Amino acid sequence: MLEVASPLARARAALETHFGYPDFRPLQRRVIHAVLSGHDTLAILPTGGGKSICFQIPAVCRAGLTIVISPLIALMQDQVEAACERGMSAVTLHSGMTIAEQRAVRSRLEAGDPTLQLLYLSPERLNTLIKKTPDLLKPSLLAIDEAHCISEWGPDFRPTYRVLRRLRRALGWPQTVALTGSATPAVRADIIQTLGLGSGFPRRRLVTHLGSFDRANLWFGAVAVKDPRERLGTLLQILGRADRIALVYAPTRGMTEGIARQLRHAGFLAAPYHAGLPSDLRARTLAAFLEDRLGVVVATSAFGMGIDKPNVRLVVHWQMPPTPEAYYQEAGRAGRDGRFARCVLLHHGDDGDQARRMLQVTFPPRDLVEAIARDPARRQGVPANVLDSADRIARELGLPHRPGDWSRVLRRRKEAEGRIRAMEDYARHPGCRRRKLLAWFGERASSCSGCDRCRSPGRGDTGPVGDQGSTEGVYQRLLSWRRAISREGGLPVESILSDVALAGIAAARPRTRQALGQVDGVGPRILAKFGEELLGICGGREQGVGSRESGSNHP
Ligand code: ADP
Ligand code: MG
Repeated sequence: MLEVASPLARARAALETHFGYPDFRPLQRRVIHAVLSGHDTLAILPTGGGKSICFQIPAVCRAGLTIVISPLIALMQDQVEAACERGMSAVTLHSGMTIAEQRAVRSRLEAGDPTLQLLYLSPERLNTLIKKTPDLLKPSLLAIDEAHCISEWGPDFRPTYRVLRRLRRALGWPQTVALTGSATPAVRADIIQTLGLGSGFPRRRLVTHLGSFDRANLWFGAVAVKDPRERLGTLLQILGRADRIALVYAPTRGMTEGIARQLRHAGFLAAPYHAGLPSDLRARTLAAFLEDRLGVVVATSAFGMGIDKPNVRLVVHWQMPPTPEAYYQEAGRAGRDGRFARCVLLHHGDDGDQARRMLQVTFPPRDLVEAIARDPARRQGVPANVLDSADRIARELGLPHRPGDWSRVLRRRKEAEGRIRAMEDYARHPGCRRRKLLAWFGERASSCSGCDRCRSPGRGDTGPVGDQGSTEGVYQRLLSWRRAISREGGLPVESILSDVALAGIAAARPRTRQALGQVDGVGPRILAKFGEELLGICGGREQGVGSRESGSNHP
């Protein structure tokens, strides 16, 4: 007799076929079970929890097309490529594709190609496709990846995220799974409401699966800095101690470029990454980072969403991000492989004020918005980003023809201010950082597996020092060595080895004379005079790393 495998058993077989993994993670299994049972599903799993599989495996197990809504082109491209490499049939449609490429995808859709499993779209693209060709798309499953964008970006940057319920209706109320790595109870409720999960016709059951947000392998710390110089100094110090692969988040494009330049001067293999760079350069930077050819990426928030780089050992925030959600999401890109990794926030008393000033751009004053809506002449001299916000709010409220319900806008502004305050509280918090962060997400941490408040007190704020086995890191050893030589010879330290060269050696940890000679600031003179000593200092490092891995700070 023919044995019929249960849907979950078939899903597991597909997991094995496409990913080579023996089994689902516990929460993944529950999410996939809910999706395969036909329920609308909200899945809240921390970054690295394996959300993609929660819709990719159902997509390949069931008949019909799964549409995946994703916020960024880079993210879609990445996922489509990875899915195709794993033998799934996935395509995307976005403005970065050539007309011919787009046409090829469209004709597969028009022909109702039954082999097509996954179609990745931005919400805006879904909207225009539905408007122009209402009958083109008939998904059997709709997946909203990074669903917190509905709350975080929807109202003030990406209004199409707010009309997804209407788009679901236009698509015939397909079963929907929403996934996010970052959702407070309020955001969760907003996602359900905005998408209309568990409503529509036929009405489906809504199943919510909420994973723990605690990532035991992450160590959290925060360092107060006085000025930009100290920010850089602290960053260099942290990077000098850390394992090689690091992400530095900075608030603006210009800053990512400036910081990356300084890091390169200091001898780090660093590059900026932001949405304003030419796409081929961005792709090259990403590829180099993914292949560990680049040690440090200095990025705006454009980097990372959904990028699967498992071995990031350190995430430093140059400045306080405006929301705990953004902070946890970005910091959470560290240690996706489950191994020890550090998340360090640099902050200054003004960081919050800067974020509040940005709110003036996102939410321009009411009288200005109303004046602009009434009289185009008032646009004169108003910065373009403020105009964008004013236009968006005017559209939302129906200005100038309707009086507009300002309470909604004001509430959002208040919430945004509350998030900035929450970040300030985190930065200054005298108690456990992990508890503080998790509490924001409505979770009570029972114990802390490592933060600057709970573990390593008195070891400085920048996290467990690398080489416990040797009690000093390479950077520290180089500093003491230089101090000793300077004392012996009565020479200024910089005349022996510049700060730039010193940081560069600490970062590169060269094992050969040739590699040492390639570090910025190390010329033939230094090579001839100190080559052996410097290589000796760097060589000692290797043992240190091993002892750190089994050290007391490793969970
Ligand atoms: P998220 O979107 O939740 O941040 P991803 O979907 O990018 O996470 O997955 C993170 C990593 O975990 C990926 O490398 C993925 O292949 C891996 N992963 C997911 N599910 C499993 C599993 N069941 N077994 C082993 N590895 C998994
Ligand atoms: Mg993801």
